[in-house]
Amino acid sequence: MLSRSILRSAFRALPRTIPRPLPRTPFPRVFQEPTPLIVRRFASRGPRIKHYRYNPEEVQRAKPLLTGEQIRNGFRHPGTKVLAVVVLGGGIYFYVSHLETVPVSGRRRFNCYSEDRVEEEGKMMYNMIMQQDRDAILPAWDPRTRMVQRVMNKLIPASGLEHVNWEVHVIESKEANAFVIPGGKVFVYSGILPIAKNDDGLAAILGHEISHNLAQHAGENMSRYVLLEPVRWVFIFLDYAGYTGGLGRFLGDILMDLGMMRPASRRQESEADYIGLMMMARSCYNPDEAVKVWERMEKFQKAAGNSIPQWLSTHPSDSTRIAAMTKWLPSAEEARSESECAVTLGYSKDFQKSLGQSGIWSDLFR
Ligand SMILES: [Zn+2]
Repeated sequence: MLSRSILRSAFRALPRTIPRPLPRTPFPRVFQEPTPLIVRRFASRGPRIKHYRYNPEEVQRAKPLLTGEQIRNGFRHPGTKVLAVVVLGGGIYFYVSHLETVPVSGRRRFNCYSEDRVEEEGKMMYNMIMQQDRDAILPAWDPRTRMVQRVMNKLIPASGLEHVNWEVHVIESKEANAFVIPGGKVFVYSGILPIAKNDDGLAAILGHEISHNLAQHAGENMSRYVLLEPVRWVFIFLDYAGYTGGLGRFLGDILMDLGMMRPASRRQESEADYIGLMMMARSCYNPDEAVKVWERMEKFQKAAGNSIPQWLSTHPSDSTRIAAMTKWLPSAEEARSESECAVTLGYSKDFQKSLGQSGIWSDLFR
């Protein structure tokens, strides 16, 4: 049995304050780049990149795992060249094997995300909106919900996306906004309905949003990230090794910004305009109204002064857009007359094929 004195002396032998272990930071700063998480509120609110924040004190205490010298030696090592060739070759193979053609517009693009994966990603956003706006969701019997549902019912057969599990929610709000989350979850903010004005106008807006889904723009944007991120890392490593004089990080960020944000939106917007216009025409809505919706948007924007409607913040209503749509009107009219408004005749399966051959959209980007 242990006597009290033994216990006491043992206790005294212990340090007064047990030193707290430092937070473990086994990775150097270079490995602690914040991991961006793409939260893409489908098209209308644009891709948002959140950065995980790291504790700056922790980072300062961290000992680099690799020094600049070690990285430089790594670059000089003969094996590095072989590795670079293998990685580059693999990268090119990966890129080429994931090239595909966008339905209807016929554009070639890189997309390494399946529809299911993108849908999975969209689920989180869907739950967030449903939670956030649950009190403002209008009931199914509300005339505004019924209007959106009615237009959707006519548009879906023309989109060839009947297999998607569509769901429509109208949210009571002054905000003029509408978007579709991958997986066919449609959200319409009631503030956009006066701009849509009628079923034809609403068909133009919804057709555009459905087209973002049809053309899988969300997957395309996520894929672009997969492609650009490694390049950005190479810049960061070059910077760390002292080859780029501190510019590497900066160049990497510019590359991400240019590659992720800029070219994507204009091309995809125009593509969604084109596909949406054809889709609404095939559903026997008046394509003229699409142009008018954009004109109303512009007027609304001017009247609203500084407060740009949410939808317009990612859908700039410029004259180029209206001009392009006016140019496509004759083919939309043709599509409308050919369709005979026979929603049940199963033309939808040919929709993507038949319009894809017209090549009118791609003329814009040649
Ligand atoms: Zn759009």
